[in-house]
Amino acid sequence: MEKKKRYFLAEEDIPRYWYNIQADMVNKPMPPLNPATKQPLKPEDLYPIFAEELSRQELNQTDAWIEIPEEVREMYKYYRSTPLVRAYGLEKALGTPAHIYFKNESVSPIGSHKLNSALAQAYYCKKEGVTNVTTETGAGQWGAALSYAAKVFGLEAAVYQVKISYEQKPYRRSIMQTFGAQVTASPSMSTRAGKDILTKNPNYQGSLGTAISEAIELARTTPNCKYTLGSVLSHVTLHQTIIGLEAEKQMEMAGEYPDIIIGCFGGGSNFGGICFPFMRHSIKEGKKTRYIAAEPASCPKLTRGHFQYDFGDEAGYTPLLPMFTLGHNFAPANIHAGGLRYHGAGVIVSQLLKDGLMEATDIQQLESFDAGCLFAKAEGIIPAPESCHAIAAAINEAKACKESGEEKVILFNLSGHGLIDMAAYDQYLAGNLTNYELKDEDIQHNLDEIKDL
Ligand SMILES: *Cc1c(COP(=O)(O)O)cnc(C)c1O
Repeated sequence: MEKKKRYFLAEEDIPRYWYNIQADMVNKPMPPLNPATKQPLKPEDLYPIFAEELSRQELNQTDAWIEIPEEVREMYKYYRSTPLVRAYGLEKALGTPAHIYFKNESVSPIGSHKLNSALAQAYYCKKEGVTNVTTETGAGQWGAALSYAAKVFGLEAAVYQVKISYEQKPYRRSIMQTFGAQVTASPSMSTRAGKDILTKNPNYQGSLGTAISEAIELARTTPNCKYTLGSVLSHVTLHQTIIGLEAEKQMEMAGEYPDIIIGCFGGGSNFGGICFPFMRHSIKEGKKTRYIAAEPASCPKLTRGHFQYDFGDEAGYTPLLPMFTLGHNFAPANIHAGGLRYHGAGVIVSQLLKDGLMEATDIQQLESFDAGCLFAKAEGIIPAPESCHAIAAAINEAKACKESGEEKVILFNLSGHGLIDMAAYDQYLAGNLTNYELKDEDIQHNLDEIKDL
């Protein structure tokens, strides 16, 4: 029989609902708290910053299915369904009896899964009469997705990009500008927050925390302007469940069901996106699937962090969130997987990990690039440095199958391609990349500083 390589859904079979796992969780995530009053947040508390529908989705613990607006589905059709691919090349390279599948989110117009939520967020903003959206971006993946989504729905986008990456990663800036966004290096003179910092230190190279402060300040002081986020929050992960819902149908076409599902982990949106639709069968029918989050060893909030209330951002502007964290004061090493350099995990994933419904593994930088290069040679796709972590974890599981002779079915999410990250591959190929060791004392020191939050 001829071997089938890729599975697609017909346009009319693209899912019409996102899946909200909060509704099915036995232990719901604890509520986000107002940092001043320590009172649980209500959706209205978020309205000044986020679109109202997104604020409601964020705290919705009752509706398991939320309809995808037709206008968003129309835009999903530009690149969805994304292919579910059987990784024959990788299986052969590893000599494993495991069946390895990956969901290829790198085929979106901007090259990663982030567009799945950017389109939804821009749509709700437009619908509510918002004219401008703003955000911050480090490496530029979220900024690129938002810039395109804003253009699609006729919004103006202002993106604050951390100055050092604005200068060192010019191509993502060009992508944002190609889609018509206004990109400002942060810190900038356009906000009070930026001005204050530049007055004190004119050569400051910027940080995500400062860029967030600038974006939030702009949203607060500009009429009809909302702030948007590309990860961590529950509504972002909700939108990403389109990945797993498609994969569920496509695995059925392949006649298999995954034993292990893997995603790389920054704030949890692509991991939750691929896992949650399958996890509902674990919660409701007791299916024994393993869910593995692959995080960088240099930013190990799931494997070595602490579950507690903490701020979602460096500056301490967000509500307090119950999550696995290394402390919002944690400064991750400058690894190339920029999208995974985040101190905490989303509240849903944090609760699931606490309850033992999922596991986590940490991957060293060099191991991630070893895996990425093996995958590139075997499957012809150069993966994003973030995605390399999921690939490394999948390879470890496939090797374990080789040892035990088990024919397990492994599914992982390829969250993006690495074609705009070739500078990182250059350094790897030149032998200039290193691993970063984190001492227990250093982690503890950070956690001690936030223990009274
Ligand atoms: C942003 C990003 C990630 C990490 O974010 P999550 O919310 O954890 O998914 C992973 N991969 C790619 C390609 C990204 O752009």
